[in-house]
This record gives sequence, C-alpha cells and structure tokens, in this order.
Amino acid sequence: MTDVVSLAVIAVFGAIVGSFLNVCIYRLPRRTSIVWPGSACPRCGRTLAWFENVPVVSYLALRGRCRTCGEPISPRYPIVEAITAAMFALGWLYYGPGALLASRLVLGCALIVLFEIDREHQILPHAITLPGLVVGFAFSLFTEPGWQSSLEGILVGGGTLLAMAYGYYFLRHEEGLGMGDFKMLAMIGAFLGWRLTLLTLMMASVAGSVVGIFLIVTHRGGLKSALPFGTFLALGAAAAAVVGPGLMDWYLSFF
Ligand SMILES: [Zn+2]
Repeated sequence: MTDVVSLAVIAVFGAIVGSFLNVCIYRLPRRTSIVWPGSACPRCGRTLAWFENVPVVSYLALRGRCRTCGEPISPRYPIVEAITAAMFALGWLYYGPGALLASRLVLGCALIVLFEIDREHQILPHAITLPGLVVGFAFSLFTEPGWQSSLEGILVGGGTLLAMAYGYYFLRHEEGLGMGDFKMLAMIGAFLGWRLTLLTLMMASVAGSVVGIFLIVTHRGGLKSALPFGTFLALGAAAAAVVGPGLMDWYLSFF
C-alpha cells in the first residue's frame, strides 16, 4: 500500500470509530446500552438505515435533518467523526504504527468522549475513566511511559486532584472539583506517566483560569458557569501527549 492509501484507510477507520464515540457520548449519560438497539432519531424514534449512518457523509447528504420528521441532527455527530478521523490520520503520521500509536489513540478516544459528556452534562462517567485506567496501565507494559511511571502517574494524578478537592472542601465547605475529575486524571496518569500528568494538570489549570477570568471580565457569568474542569483536562492531556516530551526536554536543557 502506498502511504496515501494507508492514510486514507486509517482516516476512514477513524471516522467509523468516531461514530461509535458519538453513540457513547449520547448513551452513557442516559445509562442505556451502547451496543443495542441501533441508532434512531431521538424525536420520531425511527431506526436509521445503514446509509444514514455513514460518518460525516450522511450528515451532509441529509443536510443535517432527519429524513422523516425534519428534526435537526446535532452537528456534534459529523464534528466528532471528523476530529476522530483526523486524530487517527495525524497519529499515524506522528507516531507510526506500533503500540505507542494504539495507546495514544485509545487515550484520544477516551478524551473525546469525556470532553463532550462533561461539556454537555457536567459528569465524567466511571464507565470510561476506570476501564481507561486499567487499559492505560496495560499499554504501559509494552510502550511509553513504562509500567512504573504509569503507576506513579495513577497515584500522582489521582492523589493531587483528590487532595485539591478535599482542600477546597475544607476551605469553602462546598464541592469545587467533582469526584470524576480525579479519576480522569488518574486515567491520564496511567497512559502518560507522572511527568506528563503534572504538565496536563498545569496546562488545564492555566487554560481554565484564563477562560474563567475572560467569562467574569466580559460578564458572561462567574466561575460557576465556566466550562467544567474535565473539558480542560481533556485538552491539557491531548496537548501534553503531543508536545509534552519536547517541551520537557527544552525546559530541562536549562539546568
Ligand atoms: Zn426523526
């Protein structure tokens, strides 16, 4: 296979995975099965035909509406499919085939689902974070960051946020961070190791503060209405996984 062909195949595969991620995003918060029944229109309940389930293409062909009742289809569907396709193709180019690529793509898929569910529902389902933690550790037996760093990542990621959550509760007597956040960072720690986990937390905190201050200054709401922290953790982890190692080498070169 030529490079272009293999890249196209991996992108199409990514789009198909993306359409499964959409199913998880829609059904996990509603606590319904992610394997049965097939996709249906949420308004008229008609089961979708195979040609209405083709990633990205169906949305464009149907012009974003249900064929029967005209209910608008959320643009989230083609967006998640396109982002997942791009992630698979770029990951293939960046890492090349191997265990590290597989590990990073599984993490990326988990982050996409967690980002969107947290943004829409302000929850981070255990059904993703806990199995994710186990899978991340399993990958570390074969590839970066190695099982010891993975174990330290789980403890550092989970422990830091748990301590922060308790500290906040102690000072303010209210819940600042959800309990889902520390499980999510423990999962990120399992995949990335403790160094990149601290980098994730740092980047997520800075991004969260910047957006929070922006919302307050522009009177679009206070800290309470700011985006949930899990969305920033997802973006921070994605950035840390891609640019983190280079950033860390550059930083350590000063010492
Ligand atoms: Zn419909």
